[in-house]
Amino acid sequence: MEHIYDVVIVGGGPGGYTAALYGARAGLDTMVLEKLAAGGQMALTHQIDNYPGFEEGIDGFSLGDKMKQGAERFGAKSTYTEVLSLELSGDVKKIVTADGDFYAKAVVIATGANPRELGVERENELLGRGIHYCASCDGMFYRGKTVVVVGGGNTAAADALLLSRVAKKVILVHRRDSLRATKIYHEPLMNAENVELRWNSVITELLSDDTFRGIRLKNVATGEESTVDCDGVFVSIGRKPATELVAGQLELDKVGYIVADESTRTNIPGVFAVGDVRTKAVRQVVTAVADGACAIGAAEEYLAEK
Ligand code: NAP
Repeated sequence: MEHIYDVVIVGGGPGGYTAALYGARAGLDTMVLEKLAAGGQMALTHQIDNYPGFEEGIDGFSLGDKMKQGAERFGAKSTYTEVLSLELSGDVKKIVTADGDFYAKAVVIATGANPRELGVERENELLGRGIHYCASCDGMFYRGKTVVVVGGGNTAAADALLLSRVAKKVILVHRRDSLRATKIYHEPLMNAENVELRWNSVITELLSDDTFRGIRLKNVATGEESTVDCDGVFVSIGRKPATELVAGQLELDKVGYIVADESTRTNIPGVFAVGDVRTKAVRQVVTAVADGACAIGAAEEYLAEK
């Protein structure tokens, strides 16, 4: 007989490990399946200042590890493995992984969201050698150099400001003529002496031989093209939800997020979606952890009705 867990959580970010903590504390037989390290995307964040309880802030890797340990203190288990496919429709859900199959009465999807790519030729080839998706992780490699940040949202604005304190020059490239970022960023960006804004511009080519040399820019308003010398590019254009495993089973919205409200219930009974992967207004660590708690509340109700 295969072991059947009460709850299997796919993804060990803040939403996943909060679900694990609440599940284990509620006496549920709880397993977390995580590909790399506890914390998910949060683990790549150098400094987190907007998660309450840490008056000096905390780095994302340590916070992820603390969340894992907190859940394990109550008996939650973790396995580092890659989930290959999910069969979610039956009363017993099957989770196929690179290290064998897992079975559960309820499943929490906590797979998060990954950086969105530009889609320019050679982008993947130059990853880590001129192309970056995390300014707080890789910004320090560009001390005294010139970098481009792409995007117009809060991430791009925050990344440009962070890099302006490290790099000699930051060029913020945005495809429109105004920022989507909240007002709080506008003044510091306009006032930063080493930040230049390039409006209505998209990158058409990445220029690199032995080292990264620059980009070709196209002004979408005038059609004019230009070459910009720089040492690296930070792509800060948002993220895409990691929903490949559930596509075709769970209802997704038009940009790919799992449709689920505050209850975290999805269209399949016994399947819950938490954190950045579900439809929601604010994707932050605090909202992900709140989802983890809600998911276990809903899962307990579901399991009690079975
Ligand atoms: P976002 O708000 O979705 O903004 C993405 C930006 O990238 C937009 O300006 C968009 O342009 C641009 N973009 C998208 N695809 C592009 C492409 N292929 N080529 C060029 N540009 C492209 O994403 P985000 O800035 O990562 O923010 C995500 C969420 O996290 C938001 O809810 C945000 O508030 C939150 N966040 C908050 C903070 C904070 O509070 N301090 C910091 C970071 C993130 P358009 O404007 O033309 O659509």
